Amino acid sequence: MSAPNKSYDPVEVEALKPEAIERMRDEALAAFAAADSLDALQEAKVAHTGGTSPLALANREIGALPPQAKAAAGKLVGQARGAVSKALAGRQTELEAERDTRVLVEEAVDVTLPYDRARAGARHPLTTFMERVADVFVSMGYEVAEGPEVEAEWFNFDALNFTPDHPARQMQDTFFVEGPKGTAGDESGVVLRTHTSPVQARSMLDREPPVYIVCPGRVYRTDELDATHTPVFHQIELLAIDEGLTMADLKGTMDHMVQSLFGSDMKTRLRPNYFPFTEPSAEMDMLCYVCKGTSVGNPDRPCRTCSSEGWIELGGCGMVNPRVLVACGVDPEKYSGFAFGFGIERMLMFRHNVEDMRDMVEGDVRFTRPFGMEI
Ligand SMILES: [Zn+2]
Repeated sequence: MSAPNKSYDPVEVEALKPEAIERMRDEALAAFAAADSLDALQEAKVAHTGGTSPLALANREIGALPPQAKAAAGKLVGQARGAVSKALAGRQTELEAERDTRVLVEEAVDVTLPYDRARAGARHPLTTFMERVADVFVSMGYEVAEGPEVEAEWFNFDALNFTPDHPARQMQDTFFVEGPKGTAGDESGVVLRTHTSPVQARSMLDREPPVYIVCPGRVYRTDELDATHTPVFHQIELLAIDEGLTMADLKGTMDHMVQSLFGSDMKTRLRPNYFPFTEPSAEMDMLCYVCKGTSVGNPDRPCRTCSSEGWIELGGCGMVNPRVLVACGVDPEKYSGFAFGFGIERMLMFRHNVEDMRDMVEGDVRFTRPFGMEI
């Protein structure tokens, strides 16, 4: 500090000596140059340009100088502070550029890395195909109906006009959960349903005609698992009950189904057959969707899909037997109906050239993946 009445020489004020100012400036410049990060630079900034830095304190001394000395001292300190500010800004820019370059490298995305190691799951082709078939009928106004897989023997057989001695009821064909009790009036056992037809009987008892239902579901038979058999498989069943229904309605409905699934030039044919729950009954064939019948009598162009027969067996169908209508509380004088059922596995096999039924039940994703990720 200077005494007010003394003639003033700024050189006498220690902090304002030119060499002191230069030293302060040089120390600041050295500190900025040595800062190797933005944090370190911030510390150096506080130390050399903050309110208590040597240059700031020196600047404060100027105010106490006599007027004639202020200009020279102000210029000296101002130049030093200007140099320090400039150096600080320069170093700041350098360090920010370094940081940006580093971030770009550290946060770079390698677009060649696999983005998705865990594959998305998907539903089994049997499920999606069964729903696709059901959708064909839903679009015609049918309702999807379901029933229990553990079923009363009465619904599985008796209601559908299977006689008590029908071979299908034998233990070697049917899984019995509980055997028939054998006492009069309580002869019905409990079975794993052998077809989806008991849903027909339940639906007729549940609803007032007209009835239009489609029943997809799992069914059970005592078959060994091999290339063409599985003890658990899927069926889809169709039932229509209304006034005035005939075989022509059945045929038209089936034609629509195969055209929806296989193409507009498809058609079906009926062959006489016997089933207990329909009368008359028929086997339903569809035109081979691969050769469209051109392989018949044409040994040069054989067809593997239909074994050059031109037709593929689809399933059983017919007009609902009046005895079934009566058992299910429907007046056969007023109403008639048709029913149709087929196995989903078989249809999936010939639609997608699946050669071994075991592929469908083993759960190997190499089988299901080519069907796509349909969910
Ligand atoms: Zn064919």
